[in-house]
Amino acid sequence: NRIPEYKHEPFTDFSLEENKLQFQNALNSVEAQLGQNYPLLIGGERLITKEKVVSINPANKGEVIGNVSLANKELAEKAMIYALNTFEIWKHEDPEERAYILIRAAAILRQRKHEFSSYLVKEAGKPWPEADADTAEAIDFLEFYARQMLDLKDGVPVLSREGEKNKFHYIPLGVGIIISPFNFPLAIMAGTTAAAVVAGNTVLLKPSNNTPVVAAKFVEVMEEAGLPDGVINFVPGSSSEIGDYLVDHPKTRFVSFTGSREVGCRIYERAAKVQPGQKWLKRVIAEMGGKDIIIVDQDADVELAASSIVKSAFGFSGQKCSACSRAVVHEDVYDKVVEKVVALTNSLTVGNPAEGNTYMGPVIDEKSFEKIMKYIEIGKKEGALVTGGQGDESKGYYIQPTVFADVDENARLMKEEIFGPVLAICKAKDFEHMLEIANNTDYGLTGALISNNRKHIERAEKEFHVGNLYFNRGCTGAVVGYHPFGGFNMSGTDSKAGGPDYLILHMQAKTISEQI
Ligand code: GLU
Repeated sequence: NRIPEYKHEPFTDFSLEENKLQFQNALNSVEAQLGQNYPLLIGGERLITKEKVVSINPANKGEVIGNVSLANKELAEKAMIYALNTFEIWKHEDPEERAYILIRAAAILRQRKHEFSSYLVKEAGKPWPEADADTAEAIDFLEFYARQMLDLKDGVPVLSREGEKNKFHYIPLGVGIIISPFNFPLAIMAGTTAAAVVAGNTVLLKPSNNTPVVAAKFVEVMEEAGLPDGVINFVPGSSSEIGDYLVDHPKTRFVSFTGSREVGCRIYERAAKVQPGQKWLKRVIAEMGGKDIIIVDQDADVELAASSIVKSAFGFSGQKCSACSRAVVHEDVYDKVVEKVVALTNSLTVGNPAEGNTYMGPVIDEKSFEKIMKYIEIGKKEGALVTGGQGDESKGYYIQPTVFADVDENARLMKEEIFGPVLAICKAKDFEHMLEIANNTDYGLTGALISNNRKHIERAEKEFHVGNLYFNRGCTGAVVGYHPFGGFNMSGTDSKAGGPDYLILHMQAKTISEQI
């Protein structure tokens, strides 16, 4: 094996002037490239359509990031045919070759790291460190899944009796539909796509219509890295025009979706229906929402609790499935924790991330802005607004980091996913009560316990029902290979991105037994 062991990509240290300068330069050159047209890519052919999605900067609504062609049903069908034909070749490609394409793509991304992060700043409104982490995670996914394919390529040993030779190995599934979200427009889009293709599948990639430009750029990188035509077909489009069509398509073999619970459930249901001409049961890999929580024990380090809560609640304006939208605090330390959370929140800066060092940028679009502002109104009835609460959409979709204290455990703010910078804090009488509140949700993605009580930590390990459980840290920021990421219940199919069994979800196992 020529490849060194996997290590995750380091984050850029923005306290160093030199790094800041380099990032600013990248940002300037990306600024000069904005507003271009981006075609569809179907079987290696670039197609410009009349209908386009205009991708704008959520921090500055007047700024167009790019005009991206949109696929209709006809073009989606054409892409499906290319993907089906290409699958017949690609599935036989040496898995090692497939893996090296990912490694080359990672190298290209690493070289153009700040450029990609700058697109994330512009297209998703990500503050610099958040954009940098998104790009680093994309590199990680490519490196990690490449190695995973190398580990899997010869199958898994099984026993053979005398007179018998047995083999067990994984083969690809077929054509996958990749539907990716706006919140990790590079990492999740690249990770879900790369996992599918390195496993030998071909895909139709439909990125979020909020962030199609960075996806188009990534597809170019994959081409440059040597990916053959037709393996990734780039088909941005509306859900109603092509989303349902592709999910329902009898030739679709699997769907890999990241996004809301509502859309995830819709896909799951539609994919379950066997269509005329369909020869398999479709597989769905779904990563959906969260109502993630940090619980603070009686003896916890109060500073650590407050900083973990604030960072997890307001990083990228709370637009992570992993974001801490509930904090539950033991009554003995409640007042102190609330006070520190408010003080820290008040020190956060909100502004246009392209203009420099700001902790929080905007939320993604008008629809999100309105939804979040509606929840702030609900919050005012359900709890005490202790900081924030204001929104301003005159230039971009800005919402202050907002904290509600004294929220009842059964309030809507404690149950419904908001996907914005809104935190609800609730008081609990003891550890038992805290665990009960933590598990009182339809979701089960991430959770953290801040505690110095070993017994409580051990109990939480067994009883705190989340896919990603953290102790004495925040509940966001899973790292590929270190913290395989995915949730229980309505958070999805517990497909652990960046984990040891992720690739296998895109494959099927074949047993071969020969009498000798
Ligand atoms: N993996 C990210 C984290 O741990 C969240 C991904 C998501 O929001 O979908 O924070």
